Order: sequence, then C-alpha cells, then structure tokens
Amino acid sequence: MSSPAPAPSTHFIHNIILDDLKSGRAETVVTRFPPEPNGYLHIGHAKSICLNFGIVQEFGGKCFMRFDDTNPLKEDEEYEQSILEDVRWLGFDWEERLTHASDYFEQLYGYAEELIQQGKAYVDSLSAEEIRGQRGTLTEPGEDSPYRDRSMEENLTLFQRMRAGEFAEGEQVLRAKIEMVSPNLNLRDPVLYRIRKVSHQRTGTAWCLYPLYDFTHGLSDALEGVTHSLCTLEFEDHRPLYNWILDQLETPARPRQYEFSRLNLQHTVLSKRKLIQLVEEKRVAGWDDPRMPTISGLRRRGYPPEAIRRFCERIGISKAANNIDMGVLENCVREDLDPKVPRAMVVLRPLKLTITNWPEGHTEELDAPRHPKRPELGRRTVPLSKTVYIEQEDFSEEPPQGFQRLVPGGEVRLRNAYVVRCDEVVRDGSGNIVELRGTYDPDTAKGKKPEGRKVKGIIHWVSASRALPVEVRLYDRLFTAPNPGADQPEGNFLQDLNPDSREVLPQAWAEAGLAGTESGTRFQFERLGYFMTDPVDSCPEHPVFNRIVTLRDSWGGKNR
Ligand code: ATP
Ligand code: MG
Repeated sequence: MSSPAPAPSTHFIHNIILDDLKSGRAETVVTRFPPEPNGYLHIGHAKSICLNFGIVQEFGGKCFMRFDDTNPLKEDEEYEQSILEDVRWLGFDWEERLTHASDYFEQLYGYAEELIQQGKAYVDSLSAEEIRGQRGTLTEPGEDSPYRDRSMEENLTLFQRMRAGEFAEGEQVLRAKIEMVSPNLNLRDPVLYRIRKVSHQRTGTAWCLYPLYDFTHGLSDALEGVTHSLCTLEFEDHRPLYNWILDQLETPARPRQYEFSRLNLQHTVLSKRKLIQLVEEKRVAGWDDPRMPTISGLRRRGYPPEAIRRFCERIGISKAANNIDMGVLENCVREDLDPKVPRAMVVLRPLKLTITNWPEGHTEELDAPRHPKRPELGRRTVPLSKTVYIEQEDFSEEPPQGFQRLVPGGEVRLRNAYVVRCDEVVRDGSGNIVELRGTYDPDTAKGKKPEGRKVKGIIHWVSASRALPVEVRLYDRLFTAPNPGADQPEGNFLQDLNPDSREVLPQAWAEAGLAGTESGTRFQFERLGYFMTDPVDSCPEHPVFNRIVTLRDSWGGKNR
C-alpha cells in the first residue's frame, strides 16, 4: 500500500486540453512521447513521459510512443530497447502505438513534393556554409539564395534526382520558401531535406536524403492524429515553423504545439551529451550505475516507479525556469517507501558487544513488528545471544554534546530488545577499540522502562551468532556542486564529481531473517535508510544491498 496518490494537477496544459474538449476543438486527446534513440532516458524525460502518458490516462485519450529516428544512427537498438523498458517500468502503456518517424518517410517525401508544387519549397545548390553565411543574425536580415526562384518544374526534377542518388552529400538541399527577412531565424527558408549517403537503422539504403526534425515532427504528429504536441521550451521559436508547414498542407489532423519548461535537477546533469561522457569515460559503472539520474540507474538503485511519478506530479508543469533540489526527489522516495516497506536491522560498521551476564550458548527469539505502523504486515523474530554487533559510531568515549547512544558506563536500549550498559572497553595492541563488554538488564524486555533511571537512546544491532554477512553499497550525490560545472573553468562539470559518491562496505551484518531475500526487495534498515537488493550483483548466497536514500535529508551535514 502506498500513501494516497496525489490528485491530478491542473496546470496550464491541463486547462488548455479541458477547454479544447469543451469547445470541440478536439474530440479526444492524442499525445506522443518522441525520444531520439541516442541515449538512455533520464529523470527529465520522466517529466515528459508522465505528462504525455498521464494526461491521456486522465482524459481517456491515446499516447504514441514514437522514436524520432530522422537521423541515421549507430547503436540505436540498445537505446530503443532501454527506452521502451523504462517507459513500461514507469507504468505506461502505448498499446499498439509504437511508431518511428522513419515509418513516414514516404509520406513526408510526398508532402515535400507538394510544397514544391505549390511553389513553397525549392532546391538550393548552395553549400551548407554558404547558406549559413546568408542566414543573417538576430539583428540583420538574411539574403535570398540565387537559387530561390527556380521554377517549380526544375525544383521537382532536382528533388527527384536527389532521391535517385544523383548528387553527392551537401550538393543540394531542399528548403522551405518562407522569408529571409523574418525576425524568427527558423523561418528564414529552413532546410527541410539533406542528402546523406548512409544507411538508416530501419530503412536501410532505401533513402539517401533525410528530412530534418522540424519538417518531420509536425507532420508525424499530424499523421498520427496528435491533438496536443507537448514539448520543452527550446522549441518555442520553432512553433511558427511547425504551424507554417501544417498550414500549407492538407493533413489528416491539425495538431498544436505547447511548450513547458524542462526539468533541471541539482547535483546531477541531465544532458545526454554529459551522461554519455560519464559512461564513456567510465566515471560511472554504466548507464544503470545507481548514481546516474537515468531511469535505469534510479531503478537499479531501488527507486520505485511510483516515487518518480509522485515527483513529476509534485514539480508540476509550467513555463517557469526551475532548478529542483535533489531533496524533493528523495522526499518522494521516502514518502512512497515509508508506509510500504518492512523494517530490518543491519550493522554497517560493526563493533562487538559482549553481554557478560547473558547465559553462555543461549539464544532468545525476540518478537518485533515488521512495520511499526502496519500490524497487518505481521511480525518477525530477531535472535539475541551473548555477542551482538553494534554500529561503531553508536559508541563514543568522548561523546559530543547531546550524544544519546552508548558511552562508557552508560546505558542504551538495543532496539526491540533490552537495555544494556557498557562496562569495559577492550583494545588491541595499537589502541584500537575492538570490543565492548557490558551487561543487560533482564527487567527491560518488550520496551519496559528500567527501574529508577532514564535511558533515552535506542540503537540497532545484530546478534553475532546468527548474523548474515551482506555487502552494502552507499550511494550519494554524483556531484558536490548544485550546478555541476557552473563555477569551473570552461564549465568543466567533471571537476565537480563527488569523490565520495559511492562507498562499498563488503562486510556488513544483517539480521538472520534477511537470508534468502529475493532480488528487488526493499527494506528500511532501521536508523540507516531505505535499501534494496542490487538487481545485478545480489544473489541469495551473497546479498548486496544498495542504499536508495537516507532516512532524512541531511546533505550539507553528515550524511552517513
Ligand atoms: P538532450 O537535450 O540532452 O539531447 P533531448 O531533449 O534532445 O535531450 P529527446 O530524446 O529529444 O532528448 O527527448 C525526448 C522528449 O523528452 C522531448 O520531447 C524533450 O522535450 C523531453 N525532455 C528531454 N529532456 C527533458 C527535461 N530535462 N525535462 C523535461 N522534458 C525533457
Ligand atoms: Mg531532442
């Protein structure tokens, strides 16, 4: 059971759709999620996925899963598979609506010929560099190409010859004929097609000219009957071109584009280029490294999809620039997991405590709840015997002020068990503390208060005789700076990598009940945080736990 799902939000796009349905501009809502298969999805994409798929769930419409594969690429198969897996894992279903922009290459070619026939597109024989040189700037108008006034027939023949492979790359392009003096640079006769003599991952060698994104996107939307084409703000200046193309052509539908701001998340990077660099330079262990902001990294770390959806709901949709604190995402994980996951005791950095007045060879099976607030999750038994492990940092000989854990001569409660007192500190030859010896108070079972004195502190522990050895991996923010690279020479974001973002504890001790834990099981390790078995490296013979998130947001302060 998770805490109640957040109510659907009523952001501006939601309101636009509501109005369009009311006014009859749209009969149903059709959206699409259009990733380019050139990297793994990250938490920013999740915002777009939750918006596009979420909003049609709410209004009973449809969402297309469309790969924007206008660029012939290598390696796209791995990326495509990972993208599909991630969208599905996030909880969304495109049913039969899995498409590729390349599915429409033939239709797009037909639309391009139609533009030529209308005198609204022409073949330009200038080089890319010459075209750039004539484009003008934000303050200066562009110049007409000398080929702008070719006849319709000549353009059509040239375009057909481009398709037939008669020209080399860069020799000709097809451009829209809009206006070279437009204040919007995107409208200065943008290139619609260019020659590329490379084979495409899906269409093979069928084509040697490929449509550009702006031409492809709106027409693919129209062919799929998309009503609301939702994208991020960098496409705002492209909207006039999106509209221009659709206004010239008879298409099965007339979609409209709406822009919202992209997610920026502190202490990480969300640019594909940077994420690829982290992987290729082996700064991380791969796309699914649990420190990566990729969906596959978050999944491997133990983030539940519900928490990511909750986060996307919480940050909302607007046009405002944002730079979200990682704590917002982490809180969504805590809120989701706290009511769901069972508790367990695990000691990360063990210190032996021998209970001298405990009967030799005796083990008591203590009874403890699996979850403090959810009795329906049942009970567990926790064995206690003469030697237990406690956390090294739960003992201090020179306690700082307010230290409520174990000190020489002091008492503390072992969680779910008795009050113990530390009587003696045992050291090795070099003076390191290797063991504590103490006594327990048999009258303090089941939370019973000790006679005549107050014991405030409670610590977690594991019985040494039945402890299960586990590996624990502690993850922290990948970057120390909130905006990686912002204050570095040349914006070098790698300079801000957090050297302590991963700590492996090869031998921690877990309570006996964790033996045989199945892959993908999550726990709250009491006082430590939320953890999940690593989906790749964990096995019943050698359990490996990833820390999903600490119990409290303590970044900036002590975090471990
Ligand atoms: P990059 O800019 O890093 O190359 P991209 O935006 O080009 O990434 P696409 O595969 O084209 O990556 O993205 C697919 C969809 O996800 C697009 O509609 C895009 O607007 C959206 N998207 C990408 N990044 C974010 C983000 N940080 N926040 C919200 N939406 C995003
Ligand atoms: Mg893109």
